[in-house]
Amino acid sequence: MVLFHAFAPMDAEIRLCSSLSIFLLFFLFSSLKIQHCVAIDISLGQALSGNQTIVSKEGHFELGFFTPGNSRNYYIGIWYKTIPVQTVIWVANRATPISNTSSAELKISEDGKLVLLKSSKIPVWSSNSTPSTSNSTVAVLLDTGNLVISKGSNTTIWQSFDHPTGTWMPGGWLGVNNITGEYQSTTSWENPENPDGSNQFVLLWNGSEIYWSSGLWNGQYFSAVPGTRESTPFNFTFVDNMQRKYAMYTILDSSFITLCFIDSSGLLRQWYWLNSTQKWQTVFTQPLAQCDVYSLCGAFGICDQKSLNTCRCSHGFEPAPLKEWEFNVWKSGCMRKTSLRCSNKSSTGGEGDRFVEMTNMRLPANPQNLTVGSAKDCEQACLNNCSCTAYAYVSGCSIWTGDLRNLQQLDDGDGRAGALHLQLAASDFPASNSSHKLVIDLTLSVIGGILGISFVLVGLIWAFQRRKQIWMEKQVDGSLIQFTFGDFQRVTKNFSEKLGSGGFGSVFKGTLIDSTEVAVKKLEGFRQGEEQFRTEVSTLAAIQHVNLVHLRGFCTEGSKRLLVYEYMSGGSLDSHLFQNKSTVLDWKTRYQIIPGIARGLAYLHEECRECIIHCDIKPDNILLDKDFCAKVADFGMAKLIGRDFSRVLTTIRGTIGYLAPEWISGLPITSKVDVYSFGMMLFELVSGKRNTTQSADGRKIFYPSWVAAKVVEGDIFSLLDHGFKGAADLDELTRVCRVACWCIQESEAHRPTMGQVVQILEGVLEVSMPPLPRALQLLTEDQSQIRYHLSSTEYNDPLDQSQDFLQ
Ligand code: ADP
Ligand code: MG
Repeated sequence: MVLFHAFAPMDAEIRLCSSLSIFLLFFLFSSLKIQHCVAIDISLGQALSGNQTIVSKEGHFELGFFTPGNSRNYYIGIWYKTIPVQTVIWVANRATPISNTSSAELKISEDGKLVLLKSSKIPVWSSNSTPSTSNSTVAVLLDTGNLVISKGSNTTIWQSFDHPTGTWMPGGWLGVNNITGEYQSTTSWENPENPDGSNQFVLLWNGSEIYWSSGLWNGQYFSAVPGTRESTPFNFTFVDNMQRKYAMYTILDSSFITLCFIDSSGLLRQWYWLNSTQKWQTVFTQPLAQCDVYSLCGAFGICDQKSLNTCRCSHGFEPAPLKEWEFNVWKSGCMRKTSLRCSNKSSTGGEGDRFVEMTNMRLPANPQNLTVGSAKDCEQACLNNCSCTAYAYVSGCSIWTGDLRNLQQLDDGDGRAGALHLQLAASDFPASNSSHKLVIDLTLSVIGGILGISFVLVGLIWAFQRRKQIWMEKQVDGSLIQFTFGDFQRVTKNFSEKLGSGGFGSVFKGTLIDSTEVAVKKLEGFRQGEEQFRTEVSTLAAIQHVNLVHLRGFCTEGSKRLLVYEYMSGGSLDSHLFQNKSTVLDWKTRYQIIPGIARGLAYLHEECRECIIHCDIKPDNILLDKDFCAKVADFGMAKLIGRDFSRVLTTIRGTIGYLAPEWISGLPITSKVDVYSFGMMLFELVSGKRNTTQSADGRKIFYPSWVAAKVVEGDIFSLLDHGFKGAADLDELTRVCRVACWCIQESEAHRPTMGQVVQILEGVLEVSMPPLPRALQLLTEDQSQIRYHLSSTEYNDPLDQSQDFLQ
């Protein structure tokens, strides 16, 4: 499996629009086969061969010969030296591998270029840098992973960061040289798809089809990339000057190991190395839906986001190279089992080509629209055109010729869905259609139909009575109700009233037979097996607490997974806090909501049979009932969604602002991550604003940093939501702000448990003055402001005890 990452994504690339520097990706894992003879640089007269490598000064990166996986080819590459999974970030001779390293040499040539020579001194790769005859020319591998050829101490002649081959590293850049027009070696200069020359990155398929765009750089961030906007450990810059136009990112904490690349399926991914699991962890993926990658399943492949097998072939087609499909590499698509008879159609005898109907499909782009009167005429028009592969008759007649790409299976009721009629050879249909047989078939089906309808009617009446009875029974003992998908269509009036959508899917309002209102959550991108799903769901349904949204039922049918929750008529907390309605939630209400949330979480952490870490605490997941009693929603999702969860966490706008540092640093995830997110949310509850907001003079400030400083200064009232006009209890406000500061301490040992938070909020425990959380210094975008607070405010140093917050 792993091997397929190597050399795979040749048809996906990321380009900086208007400059078209191509960033072909090359990402390798292989077992490390080189470990000897370490030098620190290559200078004139020296050569690297066989097992020799050079290592960067601090030992972060290594350069030498390697072979990817089971390949017999050797390449010169740079890889991380500090992590055990071999991860190659740059390759010199990607197009010209060599078969033997003993007589191969990587050296600085007489004219100062870095060259790779195979046996008999035949050159196979060269840096092609400006010739330099200086004796001091040297190639040095830096601790950023950049290989630099320099002359003397300061003059850089060439660097590998100007020629990325697979990964975009922190400190590396993607862009274009405005003067020479050159930047990376494979650069195309025509730009038909982006005439406006705007500053954004796009993902391209085959150099032509754009399937994702970063959004425009607005001076601060790329509008469609959450990681550039929120308070993340990254710092993005975009430079456009006479010489160059490029984007670069750096990491604020150099101990994070991270990189950005396009995976073999064409998704752009950002990875962090997690020390705790010793694995790479995806923290950012674009586009969000895999089916949005252009031609993911190849020609005539159907993408189904909700199925265990993302891609399948259309009826009458089979995987083109079966071997590739077995490894989930679908891009070569599907081929016809039987070719169409089109060209012989005029000949007499035999069966002609026919159409198979595919319902709920996203129709392919760029149809030819024909003006014909009926669906029948549309079908005929397609039959008459030898290169026509499919037609659809929705509002008019559309036909497609040649390969069909981007076919996607959609849900019932999806507005983008239509019926596509795909042309197949008659033999790819199950039965023959001789006219005599057709008459018999028709007669039988009419009789069968009448009988069937009668049965269905009787069955329906029986099922309706029975369900009512079962439902009533189940309600009595309060257990979980299992629904069918059909039930849901009725309960939600065919999913007509959407309450909202989030990272896991969409939520619809519904009404059960006894008129109770429910919220139905349709999970998307779900991959868990049915049995495991049932087990998890029944555990979750057994958890009942006044501050937790109760799970009432579920449905698992094929790839469909739905959950039924009690309906919360007060909506979600974020809708009250951030939409200029903040006066509705006066301080008294907020001070009633806060301990409610804390009790719900404390119950999950401490009183359930198995500790449940919520993992996604944020105002959107706090729901209010009609009396503004707060209930925590979506607990247990981390378990239900499994390994895709972290992707959900970090790709939704805003969520990352609530993530505890452990998610990034690789420390084990404990219930203290919820305490951290709860603390972040408290700041928003107090201020009525998102944590990252603009200050009066238009600067972006990170609100928790400011609050923490104010709390320490004792200037609590300046924090309050302006809508309150000072109408809040000073003692309560102080308590909440202090708790919040303790909850967001960098070290989880310094954060209180949710049980202790409840006690503090109830006044059972007193809370001491918190230290200014040091992590905030990293998170803020306005470093100078924080430094000022750090120097102008006295604060306690965190002690190495977990009970610091108690007085
Ligand atoms: P997120 O939590 O990321 O906002 P969800 O899919 O969990 O996404 O929920 C989407 C929206 O649906 C919520 O913000 C909320 O407004 C609404 N919602 C979810 N569950 C319920 C419920 N039980 N009762 C009422 N509204 C709900
Ligand atoms: Mg939610």
